[in-house]
Amino acid sequence: MNFSNLALSKALVTAVKAAGYEQATPIQQQAIPAILAGKDIMAGAQTGTGKTAAFALPLLELLTQQAQATQPKAVRVLVLTPTRELAQQVYKSFVRYAENTEINIAVAYGGVSINPQVSALNKGAEVLIATPGRLLDLVISGSLALTQVQHLVFDEADRMLDMGFKDEIDRILNRLPLKRQTLLFSATLDDAIFKLSKTLLTEPELIEVSERNTAATQVEQIVYTVDSDRKRELTSHLIGAKNWRQVLIFTRTKIGADALAKEMCKDGIKTQSIHGDKSQGAREKALADFKAGNVRALVATDVAARGIDIVDLQYVINYELPYIAEDYIHRIGRSGRAGKAGLAISLMSPDEEWLLTAIEKVLDTRLLQQWLPGYEPDLTKTTDNKKNRRGGSKKHARAQALSGNKKKRR
Ligand code: AMP
Repeated sequence: MNFSNLALSKALVTAVKAAGYEQATPIQQQAIPAILAGKDIMAGAQTGTGKTAAFALPLLELLTQQAQATQPKAVRVLVLTPTRELAQQVYKSFVRYAENTEINIAVAYGGVSINPQVSALNKGAEVLIATPGRLLDLVISGSLALTQVQHLVFDEADRMLDMGFKDEIDRILNRLPLKRQTLLFSATLDDAIFKLSKTLLTEPELIEVSERNTAATQVEQIVYTVDSDRKRELTSHLIGAKNWRQVLIFTRTKIGADALAKEMCKDGIKTQSIHGDKSQGAREKALADFKAGNVRALVATDVAARGIDIVDLQYVINYELPYIAEDYIHRIGRSGRAGKAGLAISLMSPDEEWLLTAIEKVLDTRLLQQWLPGYEPDLTKTTDNKKNRRGGSKKHARAQALSGNKKKRR
């Protein structure tokens, strides 16, 4: 479907064309009319489906229509995101789509000085994209009032709950007008999201653009079984032998991300790491270097990688399988964005088999395990691992603890 058939004003259609979009994606085709009609929506959309434009375009359209009636400028659209990276990405999309309008957009997230964000708000912004912690800082310090908000968006609501933002969400909701439109977007729709939706949404329209919890179909998935002490060697071999230029690699820990990046540099592959312990500036630089092709590989933790949008990214390597099975979907969804083909390779050591089982359960499909010649696992070690089932259950307990240990980031 063409954007001009979606009841959007010329200013928006022109901006979308300038962005190079020709046809509306399925989530856009369904969400745009529903949002324009003023409905609450609950949308299950994978990363890379075009979900940002699915809510940004109709909200900008509604703001344009209200512009004459409502003066002076106040925040009318509030978009909540779990991470700084996603906040920046959504902000950039709004700015791009609004370029032919008079609408001002602001962004606020932690880890950087609050002052420029306050100044931007003081100039008057109708749209604010914010992470929950920094938003509360702004409200509590009196720099921002939320009384004029008419449209509230939760982007990646599942991740917001995973990161333990429920209390912040409740505190923000207490400060918002009751009469408003609420839109909830989530990559995965599980019981926790349905529970949240009950308290937030009024007669929502449920939109799902693909089957629940399925991985991006255009991403080919390969699982190599390999001993953990040979994973680094195999990673460098894959990237080097196949001459891959832009590879996103996932580790479970920040220390692991740094260590792997260091080792890979020694292997002659320019690599940087990105995670929550790095300053905002360092994260932005690493991402910019990766996007520009100055570094070949970027090693990221799950939280840091949320919101990374690289249109041409083809290769994702799961250096370690995630403890939270749904993270697998988010990880591999970084490639194959907007219909482009992708390849996701998981390096699974024999002691991670139970994590693969959990992923297969979420995907509702079996992933074929393969050995790469020269990197076959040492079967004597495998037997030892299988004997050592107690170790596995401890790891499982740790995974449970981790998912219960709701870490907060602003
Ligand atoms: P999102 O799912 O919002 O993160 O978008 C994923 C990528 O798809 C971004 O790079 C968007 O710029 C791009 N995109 C969004 N809508 C379209 C469209 N209709 N046609 C082509 N690309 C799009």
